[in-house]
Amino acid sequence: MPMAQQTEVAVLGAGLMGCCAALALAERGCRVTLFERRTEALTEASCHGEGKLHLGFVYAADASFRTAALMQRGAASFLPTLSRWLPADKIAGLASEPFVYAVHRDTQVPVPAIAAHFARIAETWRGEPRWAASERLDEAELAARYDPAHVVAAFRTGEVAMDTPQVARLLGAAVAAAPRITLRTGVTVEAVRPRGGGHEVVGQDADGPLRDGPYGTVVNCLWANRTAVDAASGFAPPAPFLNRSKVGVTFRCPPAIAAALPSTTFVLGPFGDIVAWPDGRIYLSWYPVGMVGMRRDTRQLDWQAIRAAIDRPAIARATIAALAALCPAVATAAEAALDVPDVDGGTIFALGATDIDDRGSRLHQRHEVGLVASRGGYHSVDTGKYTLAPLLALEVAERIAPRRAAAAE
Ligand SMILES: Cc1cc2nc3c(=O)[nH]c(=O)nc-3n(C[C@H](O)[C@H](O)[C@H](O)COP(=O)(O)OP(=O)(O)OC[C@H]3O[C@@H](n4cnc5c(N)ncnc54)[C@H](O)[C@@H]3O)c2cc1C
Repeated sequence: MPMAQQTEVAVLGAGLMGCCAALALAERGCRVTLFERRTEALTEASCHGEGKLHLGFVYAADASFRTAALMQRGAASFLPTLSRWLPADKIAGLASEPFVYAVHRDTQVPVPAIAAHFARIAETWRGEPRWAASERLDEAELAARYDPAHVVAAFRTGEVAMDTPQVARLLGAAVAAAPRITLRTGVTVEAVRPRGGGHEVVGQDADGPLRDGPYGTVVNCLWANRTAVDAASGFAPPAPFLNRSKVGVTFRCPPAIAAALPSTTFVLGPFGDIVAWPDGRIYLSWYPVGMVGMRRDTRQLDWQAIRAAIDRPAIARATIAALAALCPAVATAAEAALDVPDVDGGTIFALGATDIDDRGSRLHQRHEVGLVASRGGYHSVDTGKYTLAPLLALEVAERIAPRRAAAAE
């Protein structure tokens, strides 16, 4: 293939993973076409998740500690990597109030084991120490914040979540401004086929069937539909997987009320989270209510169709009620809501055959992610978590266009 064509890269899917990969590849001199089925970049999982930068606290059920170790690498890289492309002062201001980990009475992992895991998180973290430090709340503070009938212990940490819609807005603007990236929206990718010594992208756009290419390199960052396009392109999924569709509830309340709401993750099992940002934005999720679908096959998923079929007001009411029973300040925040709660989310791809309520489920181990398949210029990237996307984007870009080679050009 001619040299020029080798640096023509098709990135499939303009979520956090695809956008970061496109920016990292463009930085290395590649010309990138970024394919996206929606009318804009970053409108799916990367825009409607909770955005927690995991340090590994929640992965206490992975005794190998490999998931926590990977999350720590991802979290350490997240803000420095995004600040290559986004104004650093703006993204630093998008972090939530730090999380408390509240141990539910039905926890899958007992409190002493959770405490030991948290101590290891602090020991292994190489970044700002206060992020990973944890401190157990005394009984009076626990009772002031949570219902002690449901919460048996709680640990204050420094872990935070990003305001995902704001990150999406900033990153979308960076992609639009990057001269080496062409964003092609309205294209549903179906497969990648060999053509002219490279690869062509096959799919549908508003005018009907589409074939585009050849590209020297293709990077599949389609997340929920990654395995569908892999399978149609000759890469069968190597292990059983789950595509779980999950929603959360967001609304705004006066910042003073949000400040009284402790950002909380209830552990360990199918529970939920409360996240409060300093500007009054609140995110709530309760697993038994917010899990709205599960698929194990390689047919394409359409998140907008899944979202349209659910009873969003009922999910908002049930989520608020479930969390208010554990943390009464949730009811106060919901009563002070300044807008109608929005219910949105996305699909979560993970290896595994059973759901999170199974202590032995592979869902508790998220370290087998990143570049999961590569052959002849076709690369398939499992993002794993929001936390990991910028780190994985740099790793994938280094694999495709190593810095040494770029410097020699
Ligand atoms: C409710 C929820 C909460 C979460 N909370 C956290 C958290 O706190 N911390 C964390 O680290 N992770 C979290 N996650 C996981 C995290 O959101 C994802 O790992 C991450 O956003 C995936 O990024 P992505 O770019 O791979 O996927 P996406 O953002 O979904 O991007 C994929 C893109 O591909 C496009 N696309 C799909 N199919 C096609 C097709 N056939 N053709 C063309 N385009 C297509 C989509 O429209 C989309 O824009 C959460 C996920 C959910 C759903």
